[in-house]
Amino acid sequence: MQKITTVTEMQQLARAFRAKGSRLALVSTMGALHEGHLALIKAARERAETVIVSIFVNPLQFGPSEGVVAYPRMLEADLATCAQANVDVVFAPSTEEMYPRGYSSYVMEESLSKPLCGVSRPHLFRGVTTVLSVLLNIVRPDCLVMGRKDAQQAAVARKMINDLHFGAEIVVVPTIREADGLACGVRNRDLTTTQRQESLVIHQSLKKAKEMVDSGVRSSDRIVAEVTHIIGQRRRVRVIYVSIVDEATMDPMREVVPGRGLLVIAVWVDEIRFIDNMVL
Ligand code: AMP
Repeated sequence: MQKITTVTEMQQLARAFRAKGSRLALVSTMGALHEGHLALIKAARERAETVIVSIFVNPLQFGPSEGVVAYPRMLEADLATCAQANVDVVFAPSTEEMYPRGYSSYVMEESLSKPLCGVSRPHLFRGVTTVLSVLLNIVRPDCLVMGRKDAQQAAVARKMINDLHFGAEIVVVPTIREADGLACGVRNRDLTTTQRQESLVIHQSLKKAKEMVDSGVRSSDRIVAEVTHIIGQRRRVRVIYVSIVDEATMDPMREVVPGRGLLVIAVWVDEIRFIDNMVL
């Protein structure tokens, strides 16, 4: 496995792999790798001869109070994880390498990125689409692998890739959960035992919604109300949004179309923000 830290080296290496006829898959991450990331790496491995994992805590996608400095960084452990997962290249640039002094170009998707997390985190998707554009231009992968855990992010990325003709196929991998149902995430390790217990209501409410649809309920209002009610019973959990949307467009869905409606949830568990979703 090779560890690359500069843009020039990454471009050269990607070019060399392409010249040998190798298909390239890119898994873009912010590090602190967990089972969710590993599922993306596995999916990448199944689709390409060369798997490149980027590890970069992207400051552009954090708001002023959103803790970019406190974001966990554990590059050595991540490198060992990647080596064990048979990754070919880890691209771990510094912030200065990605956004050198005077950097002033940004990419924005202006439709799917507006609702849901776009409301409560106005910096997020501009940061995501910009960093993905930079990474896609450096690596020029055949496919970009993302997680459904961040369904809006995947939808925004897909739209940007299509609109701007990046030419990469996007592969979206199902959410990986811990044994108790909580979706794997970097913030999970910060939870106290009580917070962890309370956070389980996220998955419990998603499952309840799925049961409602399976038993014939189609009204999004009823499902959203039930989910909000269930979450409201936990003292430490506060709803940011609960909505049922079309997964491709992020448009609200008034009547659930089974298999197409996506229930999306964002909550605070005390001061830790979680998102999750489930196809109904
Ligand atoms: P992050 O490091 O948080 O930027 O995430 C990098 C990629 O991993 C994104 O495409 C996420 O959607 C994906 N990801 C994060 N957590 C999970 C999970 N629990 N299951 C599947 N994919 C995930």
